[in-house]
Amino acid sequence: MKPLELDLQKIKLEGEVKEDQNYRFRSFLKGVSENKLDKQVHRLYEDISGRIDCTACGNCCTTMYPSVSRKDIKFMAQLENESEKTFIEKFTKEDTSEKLRYLNQTPCRYFSDCKCTIYENRPKDCRSFPHLHKSLFVSRLYSVINNYSICPIVYNVFEELKRIYRFR
Ligand code: SF4
Ligand code: SF4
Repeated sequence: MKPLELDLQKIKLEGEVKEDQNYRFRSFLKGVSENKLDKQVHRLYEDISGRIDCTACGNCCTTMYPSVSRKDIKFMAQLENESEKTFIEKFTKEDTSEKLRYLNQTPCRYFSDCKCTIYENRPKDCRSFPHLHKSLFVSRLYSVINNYSICPIVYNVFEELKRIYRFR
């Protein structure tokens, strides 16, 4: 495996330069066995995420909008000393097509000194990010390509997959 790329500016630029290649690789991966691909991704994810320090990055917390559940909203509203209704109006936005509600600020209002200030109670979406431990990787390739230019873990896993399959 090549040394990991951790430079966020370079990763962002690669997301633009390699967009076409990434979508072609997405089409290629649709022809690979789902189980085999999941095993490869899980192995790469475990290896690569173990070598990346999220507290030295924080790029997801500064650039993305995590989805929040009713339980998250209840907790955050109490924290902010607001009613749930006011919290929803002030600090969230809705995606009606997905029927999901998201925090509405970047950087996240709970991100401070490169740390999540509500770490023990962070939303499930944050706990789960970048979602590479889940099964059916092939069904989430659109979001993988979106996250490729944001998250060094996703970038390095995807690039390593290209090397494994000798994809250019
Ligand atoms: S809630 Fe915490 S983990 Fe989630 S985006 Fe905000 S700072 Fe990051
Ligand atoms: S999950 Fe990815 S983007 Fe978020 S802090 Fe870790 S390496 Fe950075």
